Amino acid sequence: MDVLNSIKFTMPSLSVNESAARAVVSSFLIQCDPTVEELSDIRTAVSEAVTNAVVHAYRGTVGMIELTVRLLKDREIYIRVKDKGCGIPDVKAAMVPLYTTAPEEERSGLGFSVMDSFMDRLSVRSVPGKGTTVIMRKRLTPHGN
Ligand code: ATP
Ligand code: MG
Repeated sequence: MDVLNSIKFTMPSLSVNESAARAVVSSFLIQCDPTVEELSDIRTAVSEAVTNAVVHAYRGTVGMIELTVRLLKDREIYIRVKDKGCGIPDVKAAMVPLYTTAPEEERSGLGFSVMDSFMDRLSVRSVPGKGTTVIMRKRLTPHGN
């Protein structure tokens, strides 16, 4: 992987850090001069992944979330959100639109669908009891277009 620039930070799984994560990602990506829509898509996808770590991975407790943002060649953005929470027993099922284990909390089960549609690539790796890693990639439109 050709990494031109990167940031990595960790934060406790407090819901206030959902907006902090969005803000940090936005600030870092300014150097790429993304379109308003691209930036909004990426912010939303990051938010969904971080929210999942806050509400599902560390349900009832607080743990650490690691967020990595990399700028790759050809204006590709790589984002990884990693937690060491409860994990997902069946990732394939969890990624099906409307699947949620928290319907009583008015969760709609659309977080992964949003990440998938707003980014070019989405991969989810999870080990029950060990944690979950979400990796997303998006190629920005060529500069100046
Ligand atoms: P919404 O995102 O629409 O509020 P949701 O969070 O339930 O609802 P998804 O984000 O699509 O929907 O996630 C689907 C399910 O996958 C969750 O209900 C939860 O069971 C599981 N899940 C997602 N992320 C994690 C995670 N980091 N750790 C543990 N379980 C997770
Ligand atoms: Mg969600």
